[in-house]
Amino acid sequence: MGGPSKGLTPPRRRIRRCVGCGKELSRNSMLRVVRSPSGEVSINAAGKAPGRGAYICADRECVRAAMKKNALARALKHPVDKRIYALLEEMCGERDGACGADGTG
Ligand SMILES: [Zn+2]
Repeated sequence: MGGPSKGLTPPRRRIRRCVGCGKELSRNSMLRVVRSPSGEVSINAAGKAPGRGAYICADRECVRAAMKKNALARALKHPVDKRIYALLEEMCGERDGACGADGTG
């Protein structure tokens, strides 16, 4: 494609809105939950699985907020099992290394 773009308009950023906090972040820092055509809900970190997807920060606060308001189920238009939220929280823990200051749990 090499169009005569002048750089006045910023390039389309690859951002996604978190279903937990509503902030828009780079998808690199988010987890993706996808609902397959067969109705199976799973976590797809690579972001390549087909189907309807929802994004959430790799942050336990966001996971809990999403669980409270059933945000994933609403985004996916499909019930989301609690184990999905549990798995998301686990993945947050894995990613959170440097700033993991909470000792409770
Ligand atoms: Zn968030």
